[in-house]
Amino acid sequence: MAVYIVLLGPPGAGKGTQAEKISEVYHLTHVSTGDLFRENIRENTELGKKAREYTDNGLLVPDEVTIAMVEDRLKKEDCKNGALLDGFPRTIKQAEALDEMLEKSFGAKVTIVPCIDVDQDALVARISGRRMCKNGHVFHVVTKQPKVEGVCDVCGEPLYQRADDNEETVKTRLNAYNETTSKLVDYYSPKGVLKTVDGNMSITDVTKAIFAAIDEAI
Ligand code: AMP
Repeated sequence: MAVYIVLLGPPGAGKGTQAEKISEVYHLTHVSTGDLFRENIRENTELGKKAREYTDNGLLVPDEVTIAMVEDRLKKEDCKNGALLDGFPRTIKQAEALDEMLEKSFGAKVTIVPCIDVDQDALVARISGRRMCKNGHVFHVVTKQPKVEGVCDVCGEPLYQRADDNEETVKTRLNAYNETTSKLVDYYSPKGVLKTVDGNMSITDVTKAIFAAIDEAI
């Protein structure tokens, strides 16, 4: 049975960092909608042009565009055993669409939804120190330094700061999370798949807690 993990949590909670570990250990393709949008923006595709006006301002890309992109991605060969979804769903409409596409296309359900919970005050500091490479590997100038400054440990690509990781855009993104995405907790909780994890712990302890939740669910 294919495994579909939905990683929830506010921007800066460490979803990308944890996603790298989860996908490695459980052999699941990491599907990050933020990475997919950034890739399309870099390559200046039609999708990228549509998404850019939203991502640059910290606003959610419209559901229709996002849902179609995820549906296409999940149909690819590397997702045949399931996927680790990072940054999707972010709205109830997306969550309903995900349930529907998993049921219709794969006869599957969301397996587990680890939700990384972090104090809001810590998030802005975490995000402003974040650096990443174009392949989505995430570092931090204090808490997760690369071996060589400015270079990705995993693929050797240069590290950069995301255009939307500035204080003003971060506030808009946190508002989007508080107003929309946090409601997903109420969506998944009654289904018995939600597992809240304390994201204020060390990276390793957060990983352990997430692995335990996944092991219990699969
Ligand atoms: P992230 O890398 O997950 O922080 O996403 C970066 C930006 O991409 C967000 O601020 C949104 O503009 C856009 N985005 C990513 N995922 C979604 C989604 N599921 N729905 C709408 N917009 C999204």
